[in-house]
Amino acid sequence: MVSSSSTDHVVIVGGGATSALIAVRLAERGFRVTVLEKAQLGNGSSSRSAAGIRAQFSTEETVVGMQYSQWWYRHFHDFLHSSLEVRQQPVLRQNGYLFLYDAPDAIPVWQPRRKREVTDIWRQAQVAATMQQQHGLPVEVLTPQTIQERWPFLSAERVVGATWCPTDGFLLPHMIYTEGFRRAKELGVDVQERTEVLGAMLHAGRIQALMTNRGTIEADWFINATNAWAARLSPRIGGMALPVSPRKRYLYFLKPAQPVMDATTWQQMPMTIYGVGSHRGAHSRPEHDLLLLAWAHETEPEPLFNDADQDRVDPPFRHDNGIDNYGCAILEQVEQFSPLLANAGGLVATTSGFYGTTPDANPLIGLDTQQENLVHAVGFSGHGLMHAPITALLVEALLAGDVDDGLVHLPVPFAAATIDLRTFAPGRSFENAHRETLVL
Ligand SMILES: Cc1cc2nc3c(=O)[nH]c(=O)nc-3n(C[C@H](O)[C@H](O)[C@H](O)COP(=O)(O)OP(=O)(O)OC[C@H]3O[C@@H](n4cnc5c(N)ncnc54)[C@H](O)[C@@H]3O)c2cc1C
Repeated sequence: MVSSSSTDHVVIVGGGATSALIAVRLAERGFRVTVLEKAQLGNGSSSRSAAGIRAQFSTEETVVGMQYSQWWYRHFHDFLHSSLEVRQQPVLRQNGYLFLYDAPDAIPVWQPRRKREVTDIWRQAQVAATMQQQHGLPVEVLTPQTIQERWPFLSAERVVGATWCPTDGFLLPHMIYTEGFRRAKELGVDVQERTEVLGAMLHAGRIQALMTNRGTIEADWFINATNAWAARLSPRIGGMALPVSPRKRYLYFLKPAQPVMDATTWQQMPMTIYGVGSHRGAHSRPEHDLLLLAWAHETEPEPLFNDADQDRVDPPFRHDNGIDNYGCAILEQVEQFSPLLANAGGLVATTSGFYGTTPDANPLIGLDTQQENLVHAVGFSGHGLMHAPITALLVEALLAGDVDDGLVHLPVPFAAATIDLRTFAPGRSFENAHRETLVL
C-alpha cells in the first residue's frame, strides 16, 4: 500500500453521484481534488436512475453500508451545507421497500422446478431478514393477511409472505450530484467538464499523469468513478481488466386515467417488488402523479456503447410498440399482485440507461492490481446512487490510511460497525463469491 498524505492531489475521473460525494469527502479531509468529466456533470447513469435505496441486501457488508448511506442521505443538506431554498426538498423519501414473495401454490404443478425455486428463495429471504435484523435493520417478515391489511391496493392471493423495511425508499438523483458538486466547488475542488481521459503516463507501477483532450494532469492519486465506462477506462490508463459489463436497463411510466386512491396514499406507496422468485423483480413506485415501473431485463453487454446509446430505446422495449413490449409484460406481472395499479392507466414513457454490472452484483471499490495509486469505485450493478455515501467513505479511508487490516470502522452513530473492504476488492475472485440474489 502506498503511503499518502492528506495534502495529496487526487484526480477523480467521472462526473456522476459517486464522484461528487467522493470529491466532497476528500476535499473536507484536506486533499486537493480535481474532477474530470468527458461531457457534462450527470452525463451517465446518475441522471437516468430509478433511484431506489434499500438496506435489504443479502451481503452483510452491504446491509451495514446501506444503513450508513440512508443515515447520510437523511442528513444530506446538513453535510452539504445546502441553502434554505434547497432544503425545502429532502433528497430521500423513506416510503419503504416491500418485497412480495410468490406462493409456491400459485406456481402450476407442471413447473415443479420453479415451485422449488420460489420455496428456496422465500427461505433465503427469511434467513437474510434475520441477518438484517441482527444488524439493527427494522425489517419485518409479513404474512399475506398483514400485507393485504396494510396495503389494500395489493392482492395477496399469490403471495406466501413479504419482507418490509420502512427505512428504505428512494432518492432525488439530480440533487445528489448538483448539490454534491456545488459543495465540492465551494471546498475548492476543480471540476473540469468536457475533459475526456484518453491515456496515462506510467512509471514504476504508478500513474504519473493522465492525458486528456485538454492536456496532461499530474496527481498523486487517481480514482476511476466512471461506472459503466469503467472497464474501458482502466486499461487505457494502465489499470487492470475490470469485470464490469455495461447493460441496458429500462424504466416505464404509467399515467393513471383517473386517481385510483387518494393523493397522500399514492405518494406514500412503497417501492413494491412483485413476486420475487418468478418475476425477475418487476417493481414499481410513485413518481409524482405517475407510477414508475421496471424489472430485471435480460440485455446483452454493450462494451462499446456511446453516450447517445444511453437513451436509445430498442423496439421490443418501447412502451408505444403495441402490446408486445417489455413495458406491457411488466404490467402483466404487476397485475397478478395489484390489478388496481396495473389497470390504472396506460404507459406514457420509456427511459433507459446503463448498469455497470459485476459477476456477483457487488461493486468494485479498492486498489487496482496494476497501478498502486489507482483506485476503482465502480461496478455498482444498479445500486450506485444508494452506494455513493458509503463509497465516498471507503475511498476516503483508503486514501487517508484509515484501513485497519482490511477493515474500515464507521463513524458515530455506527461506531461499533466495520466494513471489510476485501468484500469489494477489484481483484477478488468471483468463483465462490456470494452473489446478491436480486439485481434491481
Ligand atoms: C434504469 C436504471 C435504474 C437504476 N436504478 C437504481 C436504483 O434504483 N438505485 C440505485 O442506487 N442505482 C440505480 N441505478 C444505478 C445508478 O444510477 C448508477 O449506479 C449510478 O448513477 C452510478 O453513478 P456514478 O457516478 O458511479 O456513474 P455515472 O453517473 O454513470 O457517471 C460516470 C461518468 O463518467 C464519465 N466518463 C466516462 N468515461 C470518461 C472518461 N474517459 N473521461 C472522463 N469522464 C468519463 C461519464 O460521462 C459519466 O458522466 C440505476 C441505473 C439505471 C440505468
